[in-house]
Amino acid sequence: MKVYYNSKIAKVVTFLADFATVMLFGVVFTEEKKLSERDKFHEASHVEQYETLFGSGLALAVGIMFTCFTFDCYGWWMLALIAIPVFLFYVWYLVEFLIRLIMYRDADKAYRMIAFEQEAYTLQDEYLKPCSERRYASSFSFLKYYNTNT
Ligand SMILES: [Zn+2]
Repeated sequence: MKVYYNSKIAKVVTFLADFATVMLFGVVFTEEKKLSERDKFHEASHVEQYETLFGSGLALAVGIMFTCFTFDCYGWWMLALIAIPVFLFYVWYLVEFLIRLIMYRDADKAYRMIAFEQEAYTLQDEYLKPCSERRYASSFSFLKYYNTNT
């Protein structure tokens, strides 16, 4: 996992929020000089989630592209399809946050209840366990957090 410390990007992105670390496009940016093991494990879950949705988005974009070719429809606009894998994680994250904000009317709870965050918070203390017993985010493992409580 690539981490940029003392990052100006992290400062800009988190200037309104009460946190100092952010995962952008599979890479972690932090305002801190050092990240705790807990924070590293938290961000590692987000990187895995991002990569899963990037792969799915890429498959979707290629599918749309070939569907268009089939109907003899193509052009430079198709380059815009690359936005699907790049931004799918963030669109999902934002839409889920907004839905939960309407549900709970509490921004902090809405944030905590996003499935991506539930998984990251659940797995961030795995570093305390011996290596052989640690659980990690993998593929679509975040989906199971839609079953637990509300
Ligand atoms: Zn998080």
